[in-house]
Amino acid sequence: MPIEKKTHFSIWYFVLAMVILMAFQTYFLADQVGQIPYNEFKILLKANKLSDIVIYEDLISGKVKAGEIEGLVSSDTIKQVGKGKGDRSFITARVQDPDLIKDLESVGVKFTGKLENKLVKFFTNWILPILFFVVVWGFLMRRMGGASGGLMSIGKSKAKVYMEKDINIKFDDVAGIDEAKEELKEVIEFLKFPQKFQRLGGKIPKGVLLVGAPGTGKTLLAKAVAGEAGVPFFSMSGSDFVEMFVGVGAARVRDLFTQAQQKAPCIIFVDELDAIGKARGINPMGGHDEREQTLNQLLVEMDGFNTEKGVIIMAATNRPEILDPALLRPGRFDRHVMIDKPDVQGREAILKVHSKGVTLAPEMDLKVIAARTPGFVGADLANIVNEAALLAARKDKKEVDMKDFDEAIDRVIAGLEKKNRRMNEKEKEIVAYHEAGHAIVAETLPNADPVHKVSIIPRGIGALGYTQQLPTEDRYLMTKGELLDRMSVLLGGRIAEELHFQEISTGAQNDLLRATDIAERMVREYGMSDLGVITFEKERRPLFLETGLGYDTGRSISEETARSIDQEVRKIIDQARGIAGQILKEHLSQLSALAQRLLEKEVVEGEELREILAKSG
Ligand code: ADP
Ligand code: ZN
Repeated sequence: MPIEKKTHFSIWYFVLAMVILMAFQTYFLADQVGQIPYNEFKILLKANKLSDIVIYEDLISGKVKAGEIEGLVSSDTIKQVGKGKGDRSFITARVQDPDLIKDLESVGVKFTGKLENKLVKFFTNWILPILFFVVVWGFLMRRMGGASGGLMSIGKSKAKVYMEKDINIKFDDVAGIDEAKEELKEVIEFLKFPQKFQRLGGKIPKGVLLVGAPGTGKTLLAKAVAGEAGVPFFSMSGSDFVEMFVGVGAARVRDLFTQAQQKAPCIIFVDELDAIGKARGINPMGGHDEREQTLNQLLVEMDGFNTEKGVIIMAATNRPEILDPALLRPGRFDRHVMIDKPDVQGREAILKVHSKGVTLAPEMDLKVIAARTPGFVGADLANIVNEAALLAARKDKKEVDMKDFDEAIDRVIAGLEKKNRRMNEKEKEIVAYHEAGHAIVAETLPNADPVHKVSIIPRGIGALGYTQQLPTEDRYLMTKGELLDRMSVLLGGRIAEELHFQEISTGAQNDLLRATDIAERMVREYGMSDLGVITFEKERRPLFLETGLGYDTGRSISEETARSIDQEVRKIIDQARGIAGQILKEHLSQLSALAQRLLEKEVVEGEELREILAKSG
C-alpha cells in the first residue's frame, strides 16, 4: 500500500551518510596511513628509515620504508606500516621533544612544517557535531512530538492517514449489496465530473455515512467508489485516535483535509466513525478531551470546505445510534446508506466474486453454500472461499470441491460461534414466525403502514430480523387509532411465537419496550386514556424518538395516581394484544406460509407478502 506521509525525512539518509563517511575514512586513513608510537618514530628516524616528514602542530606524518624495519619496532607497528614493498604513510602524535629538529637534521631527512587551517579545524570540531545533533534532534521531535508542537505522544504512530492512488477495486468486486451500490452511483458521477454537476446546480452530499455490521463491505464499497471514479482514496480509522494526547488527533484531521484538498477530487474515508463520533457528554467519567477535540476538528473541517472541488467524505459505522447528532446534521453526514447483511442471492454473488481465481470442481454449486450460510457477511464468505482453497491445496487437490467447502464452513462457523453471531435452526424458525407475526398484523390493520419488506437476516446488534414498514419518516401527529395499531404490530411478533410454539422467547424484548413506551405516553402525555385529558408530563418531548430512555422528567405524582397510570397502561397494552391476537388467529395458515417462505428465502418483499395474505387458508 503506497503511503504518503508528510515527513519525507528518513533515518536511512543518516545511515547512508555515516556509512559513506566511514568508508571514506577507512579508505584514505586507516588503510593507507599507519599510526605508530612516538618512541618507535624516533627509533625509525635514527635508523634512517623515514622520508617526506611533515610536522604539524600536534602530529607528524611521513613515509616509512616498508620491508626494512623488521626487528627495529614492535610487531604492531610492523603490521601497520611494515608490510609490503614501497613506502607506507604513517602518522604519530607529536610530543614535546626539543631534540626532534636536531635528530631530523642529523639523519638528513627532508622535512617541512605545516600550519593547520584553523577554519577547517573549527568546522570539523564544532560546526559539524552541532549540525549533526540539530538534525538528529529535529528528526526525533518530528517522529515523536505532536504536530502541535513537540509533545511526546505514545499513540501517535498508530493514527495513520493513508493515501492510495490507483485503486483497482471496481463495483464488480462488490457483490450482494446492490441497493447501496445504486445509491452511490451518483457520488461516482460527481467525482468524475464535478463541473457538470455544479453547472446544473445539483446538490452534492458532503458526507455519506455507510451503516452496516462489521464485514459487510463498507470499506470495500468506499474504495470501489474511488476506483470507479478514478480518484485518490484517503483513509483513517476513528479507533486509532482514541488513545492520544490532546491536540494530536485534531492536528491529524486537519492534515488529512489539507492533503485531500490538494488532491481533489478525492474521497476521504473515516472508518469506525463511532470511535470519535460518540455523542458528546455520554461518557460518565466526564468528557474525553482528545476524542472531543478530534470530533470538533472533524466538524470544523467538514463545515469549512466546499464540495465544489470534489471532495467527498465517507464514513463507516455499525452503531449509528451512538453518533453525536451534530455529525448527522445537514451539510455533514446527511446521506445514509444502509448496508444489510446479504441474503441468499447476495451471498451467492459474493461467493462468486471471491472464487473467481479459484479452480472449483465442476459439481460445485455456490447456491448450496449460500443457502448454508445465513447471517454471514462478505468478510465471512471471503474467508470461507479462502479456507476451502487452502484446505484443497493442503491435500494436493487440483480443484476445490464440496468437501473442502464443508470443512471451511465448519471452521468459519466455529469461529463465529465464539463471537456469537450465528443463529441455529431453531432460533431461525422462531425469528421467522416472530417477524411474520409483525408483518401480518401490520398488513391487516387499517391504520398501520404497509409492509415494505420482512427479513430474518440478523441486522446489527440485538435485532435478529426486521419488518420494514413504509413510510418510515417521522410523524408529527398521530391519532389514538394509529398508536394502538402501532402497538399491535409491535406485539404481533411475540403473539405469533406464542401461537405457533406455545412458548415465548426473549427475542421480543425490544418490541415490548417500545409498545409499553407508546402506551405510557398515551396515558401520561397525550391524555388518551380513561384518566382523561390530563398530562403528567412537564415538557413536550420529541415524538417517537426511539431511544427507550426512562422517565425522569415527570411531574411529581402521588402513589395513587402512579398506580392508576400503571393500570391504564396495562389496559391499553391488553387492548393492543387482543387486536393482534385476533388477527393472527384468523390468519394462522398464512402465518405459517409466510414463516416458511422466510426460512427459504430470508427476505420477503411486500408484494409477495400481500399475495400470501390474499390466499385464504
Ligand atoms: P467493513 O468495512 O464493512 O467491516 P470490509 O469492507 O473491510 O468490511 O470487508 C472485508 C472484506 O470482506 C473485503 O475486503 C472483501 O474481501 C470481503 N467483502 C465484504 N463484503 C463484500 C461484498 N459485498 N462483496 C465482496 N466482498 C466482500
Ligand atoms: Zn419483533
